[in-house]
Amino acid sequence: MAFSADVKQELCRQSVSRRCCAQAEAYGILLFCSAFDRRQARIVTESPGLKERLPVLFRRAFKLSFDQVPEPGEGKGIFLLESPEKLRTVFDSFDLEWDGAVSMHINLARLEEEHCRTAFLRGAFLAGGSVTDPTKGYHLELATSHYHVGREAPALLREAGFEPKETQRKGNHVVYFKHSDHIEDFLTFLGAPVSAMGVMAAKIERDIRGSVNRQVNCDSANLDKTVAAAREQTAAIARLRESGRLDALPDKLKEAARLRLENPELNLSQLAALCGPPVSKSAFNHRMRKLMELAQAGAGKGGGET
Ligand SMILES: [Zn+2]
Repeated sequence: MAFSADVKQELCRQSVSRRCCAQAEAYGILLFCSAFDRRQARIVTESPGLKERLPVLFRRAFKLSFDQVPEPGEGKGIFLLESPEKLRTVFDSFDLEWDGAVSMHINLARLEEEHCRTAFLRGAFLAGGSVTDPTKGYHLELATSHYHVGREAPALLREAGFEPKETQRKGNHVVYFKHSDHIEDFLTFLGAPVSAMGVMAAKIERDIRGSVNRQVNCDSANLDKTVAAAREQTAAIARLRESGRLDALPDKLKEAARLRLENPELNLSQLAALCGPPVSKSAFNHRMRKLMELAQAGAGKGGGET
């Protein structure tokens, strides 16, 4: 998942500026993180960029700090919000119902501006997203444990011009993209143009590799044909020589026979070019066919001449 980590790192380089967008991004993070309800918000991440960004983002968005932050260092880190007042503040800023059975929704009213929608989806990707290394395949997904969020996220993406697919996995609702173009567009949209270029470059390299392979296969098929034809022609000329009839043939045919014997690896157009003066491929082909016919005719006679 090295590529995912790079994408997240790139996304986290964007500065936290507008308050509306900071809230939207935090909202995306909370709805796609490990756990978010009235008792706690738990964000688990390995991304060094996100570990730095979260405290800044939550301060900007809600003017609050986490109740628990991970120790500095590598590996998984856990950010926790547990105090009811803080959670209440977060709920209120999204107009989430604090009382009663809470099922999380994407409150589209808070995401009316395009900059906020982008920030929301960036948050969703940072907390619940992953993308396959494009040299290995094309898959980008966002996963959430909240049923309604899993249904509403695709609608939000479609509104932004994307065509996501949906599936369920281990109780999670997964929204995903399988096309390199869509992944590229989505990464650009989120604000990771360098990673998007990485996907594009990997795609181009794959395409070139594929077409080179096809070319090689095609060349070797042609080569096989050339070799088989050359072998037949050589055998025919050898018969003519053995039966002593080669020397009696017109110069043009003798020349063709000599060139064929001396250059078993060349095809007819290449041999035609070696004639003095050079002739067309079809002319050379005609001579070659004549030699084969003569050899055949000789064999028909029983090859009695020595
Ligand atoms: Zn905004």
